[in-house]
Amino acid sequence: MTQYDTNNIFAKILRGEIPSHTVYEDDAVIAFMDVMPQADGHALVVPKSPSRNLLDADPATLPALIAAVQKLAVASKKAFVADGITIMQFNEAPAGQSVFHLHFHIIPRHEGHPMRA
Ligand code: IMP
Repeated sequence: MTQYDTNNIFAKILRGEIPSHTVYEDDAVIAFMDVMPQADGHALVVPKSPSRNLLDADPATLPALIAAVQKLAVASKKAFVADGITIMQFNEAPAGQSVFHLHFHIIPRHEGHPMRA
């Protein structure tokens, strides 16, 4: 079983040790802008509880998390006048995860504009 690393970059952001462009916060969740956005407005929704990814998350934490994901997606669609919203979530390196604290990508999409690599 892979362990949660308390020194991952999102844990440091949650502890206030490194800066972030925070756009939303509640008791359970923080959301901030991605430093390498795949489209304008690319944000990350991150639970405050220490889960490596969705596979090891406490199910009790998920209702608040998914509610925040929906809230950010709706707000993002409005703020960026998007035609749609891509929501992505990766589990372990072979699946594309690079930061090992659970997070959801919220990416505003516009007709005719592919995501950046
Ligand atoms: P993953 O591939 O789902 O793990 O995505 C991690 C995301 O975190 C990537 O889109 C990175 O650009 C983003 N990221 C890495 N470091 C930071 C940071 O310090 N602030 C905000 N976003 C970050």
